[in-house]
Amino acid sequence: MMAPARQLLHDIFGYSAFRGAQQAIVEHVAAGGDALVLMPTGGGKSLCYQLPALMREGVAIVVSPLIALMQDQVDALTQLDVQAAFLNSSLDADAAREVTGRLLRGDLKILYVAPERLLMPGFLTLLDQLQSEGPGIALFAIDEAHCVSQWGHDFRPEYRQLTVLHERFAKVPRIALTATADAPTRNEIIERLALEDAQQFVSSFDRANIRYRVTQKNNARSQLEAFLEREHPNDAGIVYCLSRRKVEETAEWLHSRGWDALPYHAGLDPAIRNANQRRFLREEGVIMVATVAFGMGIDKPNVRFVAHLDLPKSMEGYYQETGRAGRDGLPANAWMAYGLGDVVSMRQMLDAGDAPEDRKRVERQKLDALLGFCESTACRHQTILRYFGEEHPGNCGQCDNCLEPVETWDGTEAARMALSCVYRTGQRFGVVHLIEVLLGKQTEKVEQFGHHLLTTFGIGKSLAQPQWSSVFRQLVAAGLLETDIEHYGGLRLTEAARPVLRGEQPVWFRHDPEVSRRKVSKAERAARAREGYEGVGDDPLWQALRARRMELARDQGVPPYVIFHDSTLLEILNQRPQTLDQLGRITGVGQAKLARYGDDFLKVLEDAANGSAG
Ligand code: ADP
Ligand code: ZN
Repeated sequence: MMAPARQLLHDIFGYSAFRGAQQAIVEHVAAGGDALVLMPTGGGKSLCYQLPALMREGVAIVVSPLIALMQDQVDALTQLDVQAAFLNSSLDADAAREVTGRLLRGDLKILYVAPERLLMPGFLTLLDQLQSEGPGIALFAIDEAHCVSQWGHDFRPEYRQLTVLHERFAKVPRIALTATADAPTRNEIIERLALEDAQQFVSSFDRANIRYRVTQKNNARSQLEAFLEREHPNDAGIVYCLSRRKVEETAEWLHSRGWDALPYHAGLDPAIRNANQRRFLREEGVIMVATVAFGMGIDKPNVRFVAHLDLPKSMEGYYQETGRAGRDGLPANAWMAYGLGDVVSMRQMLDAGDAPEDRKRVERQKLDALLGFCESTACRHQTILRYFGEEHPGNCGQCDNCLEPVETWDGTEAARMALSCVYRTGQRFGVVHLIEVLLGKQTEKVEQFGHHLLTTFGIGKSLAQPQWSSVFRQLVAAGLLETDIEHYGGLRLTEAARPVLRGEQPVWFRHDPEVSRRKVSKAERAARAREGYEGVGDDPLWQALRARRMELARDQGVPPYVIFHDSTLLEILNQRPQTLDQLGRITGVGQAKLARYGDDFLKVLEDAANGSAG
């Protein structure tokens, strides 16, 4: 006999084993304990409250700020024959009444509620009633628990009142969950939600299946397109841009190049925005070009890439945004193009903002940490985790720096020349002009300012323009140069530049690799194919399985991944089960789904075997 948790995991969810701390968490909460769960995106948090909900008497109340997501969660549970519903502002009065009716009748196991709804006096009374006369409350799950933190970008004031749950229903276990990794947020969650006595379950935040890459920008659009053509010709992904205008322009451009790309930002008409989001979720292979307004609450598991055309604001932002890729655990790419212009404009934006000075200082530090990451030659996984206080051995084999180690060069002399050129031209010119002076170009501007008479004129001929550009970018990123807003982005020296200028401090630069337009090498392709995902795109059976899944999804008005995840479909493709029994052993095929879809998918396999795929 399997332990009850394992049995349910298998029968309901179709999984053969727990992941990481899941088992410990499930057992702890099922036994009535409070828990704080810190797990990265894609780590499998939902199961940590869904399973105990099934193991305990009564209804589990799940607080979530993400209205859009509740529908998906409920759809997914319904597919598993778990009685679930949600209550939020999207329901009209009749529909809401029906849900509360089911609640009191004991007709629900899991109820998702928005925090503002939960805190309504009427709802709290309903919970009292549930507890005294009805089936009881199994547990409270507080999802996205970092929303209590005032310093995060997802602050929700109602979250701070959730202590009422503890005060009013002291005996009901609470489980708070978040994918936000930093210690200050964690402490704030404990304090604000009164979870001092809760057991903490902290997972590694490494996203081992994400391949991080930072490339130097020269022509961002064509670099992006080369990346898409090379690695994601048919995949769903997100392209992040800083401004609404750039979102629209980029989406339009991609569209004109034949990509299925849609824009998303807070300024779009809500109807269009929602329609675009819906297409991204419900269809395959849609590229969403978006500001960071897009993402929270998107739990589409098969986002295969996240591309940044502009810098994120911090390491936290970068980790969170790239983290939307590869929730299903299959290989995914985080790709960023970045250049000097980005550093300059981000710094200017921070300076020009109207945040109080101490806040700006924090933001500048956060940006600097991100720039340090971009310029680093160390393993990306290691650098990211170190930022969040976790050790990683490095050598991940899954980032640009590990796959193609970056050479460094002694830039002490070059740095001195560049800094000296900034100084002698009066600390007010931009990088284009500075490089022209270093290269000894007789331009109109050079003559106008008499810069051909300077000692730095033409001293930099040993390097070419792109190398100088790389030098300036790295000097700005390292904080030796800063931009002067009053002089339209001219560069000036910082205190930190002095010892370098005096030749007292050596400087090492990374050697920017030539921007490659190469096709993926055979070896690389083979390596990725072995990971089990890439290269299946052309397989007719894979196409047939996906087509069947899409039909089933359309019939029911749910996203395809609610029927089966890609990982499940992939296992079906590789295992080619011939009987319901064999199909039932595939990860992600529980009893309910086997009964619902087993015959459909066996038929697809059978047709393919008979040579009539489709
Ligand atoms: P999170 O909320 O932490 O981002 P989810 O709960 O959405 O993660 O789970 C991420 C993915 O992992 C989902 O596709 C889920 O079905 C899958 N998953 C979770 N637990 C397991 C498990 N024990 N075995 C196999 N797949 C799992
Ligand atoms: Zn690495």
